[in-house]
Amino acid sequence: MKTFQTTCCIAGGGPAGVMLGYLLARQGVPVMVLEKHADFFRDFRGDTVHPSTLEIMYELGLLEDFLKLPHQELTSVGALIGGYRVEAANFKHLATHCKFIALMPQWDFLNFLSERARRFPGFDLRMQHEVVGLIHEAGNIAGVEARTPEGAVEIRADLVVGCDGRHSTTREEAGLEVQEFGVPIDVLWFRISRKSGDPGQVLGNVNYGKMLILINRGDYFQGGLIIRKGSFEDIQRDGLDAFRETIARIAPYLGDRVNELHDWDQIKLLTVQINRLRCWHRPGLLCIGDAAHAMSPAGGVGINLAIQDAVATANLLAEPLRERRVTEALLARVQQRREFPTRVTQMMQVNAHKAFVRVFKNSGPLPVPWQLKVIAHAPGLQRVMGHVVGVGIRPEHVAGARKGAWDQPWSLRKAAVHAGAAIGAVVATLRALRG
Ligand SMILES: Cc1cc2nc3c(=O)[nH]c(=O)nc-3n(C[C@H](O)[C@H](O)[C@H](O)COP(=O)(O)OP(=O)(O)OC[C@H]3O[C@@H](n4cnc5c(N)ncnc54)[C@H](O)[C@@H]3O)c2cc1C
Repeated sequence: MKTFQTTCCIAGGGPAGVMLGYLLARQGVPVMVLEKHADFFRDFRGDTVHPSTLEIMYELGLLEDFLKLPHQELTSVGALIGGYRVEAANFKHLATHCKFIALMPQWDFLNFLSERARRFPGFDLRMQHEVVGLIHEAGNIAGVEARTPEGAVEIRADLVVGCDGRHSTTREEAGLEVQEFGVPIDVLWFRISRKSGDPGQVLGNVNYGKMLILINRGDYFQGGLIIRKGSFEDIQRDGLDAFRETIARIAPYLGDRVNELHDWDQIKLLTVQINRLRCWHRPGLLCIGDAAHAMSPAGGVGINLAIQDAVATANLLAEPLRERRVTEALLARVQQRREFPTRVTQMMQVNAHKAFVRVFKNSGPLPVPWQLKVIAHAPGLQRVMGHVVGVGIRPEHVAGARKGAWDQPWSLRKAAVHAGAAIGAVVATLRALRG
């Protein structure tokens, strides 16, 4: 078996792994990122690059080139609920450089970031390297074993970071305890063509006991039908005609194209989980991103949370890694920093799932819940939601990089905008409750 040596070995080349690899290599830390697939080109990776991630790209001086890649800009996120259009989150007032979500296929994002990372001498991305085990030595994790087309290899490192997602091998091999939070939904993922007159920015279509997410990818929609967990077999038994009818009923403008779906092979089941490790580390190993806390697609925030984890990890560990003095206490500091935002975000996702279950129960036309009417009449609330979704809880900044927009001192204008939003939210809530 061939043996390689590096300072930090990252298992998994998703958003968390590639961003962490970039950040560590930028700070002069030799790093090896192992990705089990041959490329980043997979359909179900999540496409939302939020204002917080774009801000990090700005801080790294990458934003201008990044935005030259084909993408769509979402300045607000809305849904058609029971035929009623609700703008749930508005990003136009965020204190960030980009006041929008960039919708970009994740393979473009990962290709861009890894190509830029390769410019640092310490960055080594190895595709088709699947981590299959950990090397244990005197109570420490001292590296990984990986399967490659050329045979098995051993990679020894001062630190292994598990960024290998929801089905993490590293966390399982390390015996880290996982807390599961029951999830009542799964997603059926498919493509359907898009025409110029179709709604551009409507992401959610909710009606007749069903929820359909449509992500605009230019000439096609990436569709996601949210279904009750475990119900895919029943849906298949009812047949493709019934499936097509469901789509056309929720989004009538797709009625002339649903026949594009003619084989169940075009429809992929994506299982959804929410879970969290009690402890994210062992001596020599740290898990971040979905490996530490699997996120649901609700709110489309998982990628950004994974990236925030990567930034916090690099901020806390780059120097100790360079000086070869990483201790478990330092790994614990990453968990301490990132656990709070993770808990809050997962709690919001669990609550969103409860609302999804209420939708499943009503197979007729959906009455619009009063809460949504409040949001629809409250630009202030939409801005608050824009902050929660677009920036998130405890946004991270790249240490030693140029300052992002929200690092600027509080100005009178900014304070007035926030106060206005709060007053607007209260007034609109009272108005909606009275009406
Ligand atoms: C159906 C669905 C839709 C979603 N949509 C969105 C969305 O639109 N926006 C959003 O922000 N979030 C979305 N999420 C959540 C989001 O996908 C995750 O939170 C995010 O991808 C986590 O990033 P990560 O880098 O931690 O892990 P991942 O993105 O899962 O990346 C892990 C990487 O590790 C690799 N890997 C796995 N095992 C090994 C191994 N043993 N050896 C080497 N490599 C390995 C994988 O191939 C992968 O490249 C969605 C989730 C689901 C389930």
